[in-house]
Amino acid sequence: MSDPMIEIVKPSTMREALRILARTSPRALPLGGGTQVSLFPTSAKVLVDLSELALAGIRVRGGRCEAGAMTTLAQIAASPRIPAALQAAVLRETNRNLRQQATLGGALAVREPGPLLACLLALGAEVSLEPGKVVEGLDGWLRRRLTGRKPAQLITGASWNSKQTLAYVDVARAPADRPIACVAAAAVVKSGRLGNVRVVLGGAGQPLALQLSPARLMEGVAVADLDRTMEAAGGVIRAPWVDDIRGTAEYRTAVAPILIRRALAHLLSAGA
Ligand SMILES: Cc1cc2nc3c(=O)[nH]c(=O)nc-3n(C[C@H](O)[C@H](O)[C@H](O)COP(=O)(O)OP(=O)(O)OC[C@H]3O[C@@H](n4cnc5c(N)ncnc54)[C@H](O)[C@@H]3O)c2cc1C
Repeated sequence: MSDPMIEIVKPSTMREALRILARTSPRALPLGGGTQVSLFPTSAKVLVDLSELALAGIRVRGGRCEAGAMTTLAQIAASPRIPAALQAAVLRETNRNLRQQATLGGALAVREPGPLLACLLALGAEVSLEPGKVVEGLDGWLRRRLTGRKPAQLITGASWNSKQTLAYVDVARAPADRPIACVAAAAVVKSGRLGNVRVVLGGAGQPLALQLSPARLMEGVAVADLDRTMEAAGGVIRAPWVDDIRGTAEYRTAVAPILIRRALAHLLSAGA
């Protein structure tokens, strides 16, 4: 039987935290809000509490919004520095009690697909990692994890271009239920036209799907072009939807263009 005892250490410097995390025995893991590690068995014998490392908080500087890894989902949902659409998306993740505890770093590490990651992917967010102050695109970070490589890295935060407009829309069985399907779309809106468009499809437990080909068709689009654009984009929207308890892949395929059109309309009206 494995030893059920886990030691929790609380380093006061990043250097000390990285030194402990670099050890191979006993195995150590970062501890965010603990909502996941407290429920699921872990092979780690040491948890490194990150709460003394000044990793919580949200600021905007140099045209970028930066959120620290220890910022809770509740703080993201309440911050005036966070786009309203991202706040709305975070409120669609899990329940109020868990949002008070769960951290951005934990959400990125667990990479639970859902509204939060869909929005961050649409914003073209970058993830900051230690050691080495590495900055990596979220897209690459998620794909790297999915290919099974296990980076022993500490997430220190995420950032994105704060000049973008973000829209988030979803469909759910009931207003408080988790989304069957969702769309996050980000763009720079100038003179009533979309630029640098990024569109992500997702949903609770659904794979995230960045829509590169449809987004190309949306460049320069104005309100009057929306129907024509969606007619053209409809044929190139692709997502690896899966059937689940909330709905079928077929339903999600049918609803995706409607949600995308709605998200683009929100972008154009928010950026006007
Ligand atoms: C029943 C239940 C349902 C949930 N449903 C949802 C949901 O639908 N959507 C949602 O978003 N969340 C959900 N959560 C919260 C879920 O645990 C999240 O993924 C959460 O964001 C994890 O954050 P945490 O800070 O609590 O992570 P922790 O539990 O502290 O850690 C989780 C993992 O992430 C690693 N980690 C934590 N911080 C870092 C860091 N800074 N750098 C590197 N690795 C790190 C840990 O080592 C561990 O492996 C749910 C939780 C529970 C218990």
